[in-house]
Amino acid sequence: IHILAIESSCDDTSASVFKNEVVLSNSIANQNVHREYGGVVPELASRAHQQNIVPVVHKALKDAGVNADDIDAVAFTRGPGLMGSLLVGTSFAKGFALANNIPLIDVNHLHAHVLAHFIKEPDQETAHPEFPFLCLLVSGGNSQIVLVKDYMHMQVVGQTIDDAAGEAFDKCAKVMGLPYPGGPLVDKLAKEGKPNAFEFARPRVKDYDYSFSGLKTSFLYFLRDRLKENPNFIEENKNDLCASLQSTIVDILLDKLEKAADDLNISQIALAGGVSANSGLRDGLQKMAVRKKWITFIPKFAYTTDNAAMVAITGYYKFLAKDFVEQDAAPYSRVVF
Ligand code: ATP
Ligand code: FE
Repeated sequence: IHILAIESSCDDTSASVFKNEVVLSNSIANQNVHREYGGVVPELASRAHQQNIVPVVHKALKDAGVNADDIDAVAFTRGPGLMGSLLVGTSFAKGFALANNIPLIDVNHLHAHVLAHFIKEPDQETAHPEFPFLCLLVSGGNSQIVLVKDYMHMQVVGQTIDDAAGEAFDKCAKVMGLPYPGGPLVDKLAKEGKPNAFEFARPRVKDYDYSFSGLKTSFLYFLRDRLKENPNFIEENKNDLCASLQSTIVDILLDKLEKAADDLNISQIALAGGVSANSGLRDGLQKMAVRKKWITFIPKFAYTTDNAAMVAITGYYKFLAKDFVEQDAAPYSRVVF
C-alpha cells in the first residue's frame, strides 16, 4: 500500500509517501515569513501553504520514486490547527483523491504526533512502544498526557488548562528578546547556564493537568523588577535565565507524568510533539526512567515537530481499518480528543 500524506495545520507545509509502515519520503517547506512578527500570522501561513503545497508534494513523490498513479490513498490533517492553513491541505488532498479515484483519509494532528513512534525507516529495525503506553504530548499548541490503548483509541488523562509548554518556552523567550520560535534557542542557551539560579512560580492544578500561564507571568514580573535595578539584567543573565526557565518547565511536565504513570501502573512512556526535542526534557526523562524502571521512547528529531510522515503512518492504520471520509469532510480548528 502506498499512502500520500499532507500536513498543513500550522506554518509548515509537508508531504510524505509511505509504503505500508515505511517512510519513503518526508518533504517539508518551512515558512520564514513569520519570524519578524514574533509568531505565526495565520493569513500569511495560508498564503505560503498555497504556494508551497504543489512543489512539496512533487518533491515527496520524486524522493519516494513513485508516480501519482502508484498512490492507493491520500491522508490529510483535518485538525486541530489554523483554519486557513488546514483548508489548503484538505482541499489539495480532496483534489488528489478525486483526480486519482482513491480513498481519502482524515487524520487528527494530535493522534499523528503520538503515532509518530510507529514510523519505520527503510531497512532499519526500530523499537516502538507496546500498548497501553503513556505519551507526554508537548507541542506549540498542546500539553497533554495521553493514554494510548491502541492505534485508534487514545484517552487524554491530563492536559493544560491554559498555555501549552511550547508556548511557555516561546513567550518567555520573546520577553527576553529572542526571536520566534524561542524554544530551541532557550534549549541552546540553557546548556551554558545554571538551572537553579532563579526560582519561578510553580502551578497547583488538579490531578494530571498542567498550567503554564502563571509561570509566564511570574517570569515577566521577575524580569520587570530586575530590569528596574539593572537595565542589562537580561543580557548578563541570559544563560541562567534560560536554564532556570527550562528546568522549571521540565520539572512541571515530569512531575505530573510520574504521577500518572504511578497511578495507572504504566511503565512504557513516550514523548511526542515539538518540545520533545528539548534536551532538558530528554535528559530529565532518562533520569526518571532509570529511577522508575520505565522503558522510554523518544521520536527521531524530524518526527517531533510538524511533519507529514506522522500523518502518513496514522493514515496507514486508518486505511487498514477502512476508515475513510467523503469529499464533504471539513477541517476543524479545535478538537475534543
Ligand atoms: P500543535 O501540534 O499543538 O498544533 P505545533 O504543531 O505548532 O502545535 P510543534 O511543531 O509540535 O507544535 O512544536 C513547536 C513547539 O516546539 C514550539 O513552541 C517550539 O518552541 C517548541 N520547541 C521545538 N524545539 C524545542 C526545544 N529544543 N526546546 C523547547 N521547545 C522546543
Ligand atoms: Fe503539531
